[in-house]
Amino acid sequence: VIKGKHRNYYNLFESSISENFKIMLTMEAELRKALRENHFELHYQPQKDLANGRVVGLEALLRWKHPEKGYISPAEFIPLAEKTGLIIEIGDWVLLEACRQNKEWQERGLKPLTVSVNLSARQFYQPNLVEKIKNVLQKTGLQARFLELEITESMAMSNEEEILKTLYELRSLGVLVSIDDFGTGYSSFKYLSVFPVTKLKIDKMFLDDMQKENRAIVKSIIHMSHSLNLKVIAEGVETDEQLAFLTREQCDEMQGFLFSKPLPADRLLKFLV
Ligand code: C2E
Ligand code: MG
Ligand code: MG
Ligand code: MG
Repeated sequence: VIKGKHRNYYNLFESSISENFKIMLTMEAELRKALRENHFELHYQPQKDLANGRVVGLEALLRWKHPEKGYISPAEFIPLAEKTGLIIEIGDWVLLEACRQNKEWQERGLKPLTVSVNLSARQFYQPNLVEKIKNVLQKTGLQARFLELEITESMAMSNEEEILKTLYELRSLGVLVSIDDFGTGYSSFKYLSVFPVTKLKIDKMFLDDMQKENRAIVKSIIHMSHSLNLKVIAEGVETDEQLAFLTREQCDEMQGFLFSKPLPADRLLKFLV
């Protein structure tokens, strides 16, 4: 939520502290209501393999369909959902819905795709996370290799022992794990060599401004990923110039408005067939 960028429904920046507090309480109540009344929706953004042009994956992105205000972006409510702990329930719903939907598409005969789900820190640190994932896969019938979990660098870095254990358990289930927004956190090469992750997602930031320095960074991330046997995807690709550069540098996959915006399930289906 950046002041002046766009007017938010919850105008936190333009309000006083006590007003903000009231706004947050209202929002918390509304979030609970949204959970009860099923006002969340997933949109899916297709990811393209740059070598053959095929769609290989989908990122599930949460939307709050507010009865009066329309779609509200996760950037506006995920922070509060994390603070209040509501993210656990919301996240459970996201996981189940993404797996259910992906399985449904497979059963309709679509080519199997990976669905990736964003996890927030609180979700990732749940002691029963692996158990939950196992249950969701069992309940929906989705094979583990068609589910990818996105974590961020900062999440992977605290409490190393526990995180490593969780990651190994997830990998032994067959679930894929990617590092989202790669390059924007406190990246440490040590973790990259130790954590059993499967993919790096190059943050949009490095593509937005394709000056010499950023091009060098993107190239290094691609080459490092390949040396470490990791897949690499570029996020937020908007221009032909960016696409040409990524293709030339042999980035594996791309995702961005140039290819497609995140789409509701019915429109995604039309996009795919
Ligand atoms: P993210 O995981 O890094 O997702 C990428 C964001 O970039 C999405 O924003 C997507 O719509 C946007 N994007 C994709 N391609 C382009 C492009 O070419 N140009 C531009 N300008 N933007 C592009 P979105 O959907 O608003 O999500 C924002 C963030 O909210 C996500 O960032 C993720 O961190 C979080 N989020 C979304 N869904 C969930 C969820 O189910 N659970 C959790 N915990 N977090 C979520
Ligand atoms: Mg993501
Ligand atoms: Mg990202
Ligand atoms: Mg992000």
